[in-house]
Amino acid sequence: MTGTEKSEFQGWMKKCLELARIAKARGDSPVASVIVQDNVLIAEGIEGGKTHKDITCHAEIEAVRNAVKYLDKTDLSDCILVTTHEPCIMCSYVIRHHKIQLVVVGADSGEVGGYSSAYPLLLDETISSWVKPPSIIRGILQEECAALKK
Ligand SMILES: [Zn+2]
Repeated sequence: MTGTEKSEFQGWMKKCLELARIAKARGDSPVASVIVQDNVLIAEGIEGGKTHKDITCHAEIEAVRNAVKYLDKTDLSDCILVTTHEPCIMCSYVIRHHKIQLVVVGADSGEVGGYSSAYPLLLDETISSWVKPPSIIRGILQEECAALKK
């Protein structure tokens, strides 16, 4: 990762942190994501499982929904997902389905995580209908992201 890339990712992560505080303020898990295409923010996702009483309203899925709507296409292989926390197993399925090829993460999620749990779906290479797994960049503003959950 070059210095320019790192500061670019930190900039997007700051946006995620701002959105995650909205989630936290309304009682949801303090998680948020953005989707970037050609250096332009095209979609935001704010964790809303509690607010909407719908577990599929995780930040990453909300961001994907908004990106698909905005771009009017389901192939997001030219997009980057930036997210405060490691995508969970459920969100990993959605990320793989939509062919996202770069995922930038703040803090890891452990037991339910898409790459650090016992079910690393985000990196799976055995499902033949999926394209290659995304590259993962971890630890962008990690301390700030982890501190949200305190
Ligand atoms: Zn999730």
